Amino acid sequence: MAIRIAIIGFGKIARDQHVPAILADPRFELVAVASVERPPALEVPWFASTAELIEGMRGQLDAVAVCTPPQVRHAIACDAIAAGLAVILEKPPAGTLGEIDDLERKAQIARCGLYAAWHSQHAAAVQDARRLLEDATIASLNIAWFEDVRKWHPGQDWIWSVGGFGVFDPGINALSIATHILPEPLIVKEALLIEPENRQAPIAASLTFAGNASRAEFDWRHEEGECWTIHVDTEEGQTIVLEEGGARLSAGGVQLPLPERGEYNSIYSAFAEVVEKREVVVDREPLRIVADAFLVGSRVRAEPFE
Ligand code: NAP
Repeated sequence: MAIRIAIIGFGKIARDQHVPAILADPRFELVAVASVERPPALEVPWFASTAELIEGMRGQLDAVAVCTPPQVRHAIACDAIAAGLAVILEKPPAGTLGEIDDLERKAQIARCGLYAAWHSQHAAAVQDARRLLEDATIASLNIAWFEDVRKWHPGQDWIWSVGGFGVFDPGINALSIATHILPEPLIVKEALLIEPENRQAPIAASLTFAGNASRAEFDWRHEEGECWTIHVDTEEGQTIVLEEGGARLSAGGVQLPLPERGEYNSIYSAFAEVVEKREVVVDREPLRIVADAFLVGSRVRAEPFE
């Protein structure tokens, strides 16, 4: 029988990626949606809250995909786990390290299946880059993750609020790739966080990592196209570059052929296994780096945003 799944939080990522990926995978059946407002032209039952979803779909639901902003994710996932449902979490998996640790522990006790998905780890270049770097000694890492916040996050007030991550919302995608492909952990030594006077979250950030010449630059004030690049030099003389958010890979300046696959199709394949085996798959490293950047970061106030 297909895994009967509901989506909680029916915004951009739910509509653009989760719905098509669920519909494309015969191991899943989309049976309901819970969201603050009723989405137009919805072909499955709608519920105004997680509690109403759990009550209204009792016995007819196996899993939920939590696609809300991060500030409310922990409470929603706790309710789903308590109801014995398998849970897939959009990134970032929770608002704090304490919350994700709590979800991991609760899911292990409940044996319900928990998957903290990092969509960028499913980008086409990532597994090959990881293989190329598995025995390497890293000489330097340079992450450049630049985009225009007005283009990519119009109307998303939550992203600028406390717990909204600001520029780390896209930046954590880069960190999810870097932590996955590098053979050693990244330790944040310094951070500079640039925060608009009228907002609670950074519009740009620079991170310096320990041990070698490794840096990450995140900037939302980039109006000409996007730059989502990770550049790695190794002591052995290799240069590995991931571009377009992990869609392209080069080694020593030569583009490598990559498998064609959608990030969210790959995510739902992984989640189907998590559900079947009742596993708990959580990678907290990208969130740890962001938390550490907020801990050690110096703040600079910038002009108000809008
Ligand atoms: P969004 O368009 O603002 O959608 C969030 C949705 O969650 C809205 O429909 C919101 O409803 C709903 N919501 C808020 N609180 C809720 C609650 N307590 N219960 C149920 N629904 C609730 O944001 P998004 O871009 O989809 O991003 C959501 C998450 O996905 C973020 O963590 C983001 O990092 C991640 N993500 C986004 C993208 C992307 O390209 N957009 C890509 C990958 C991952 P209201 O609007 O009515 O409040």
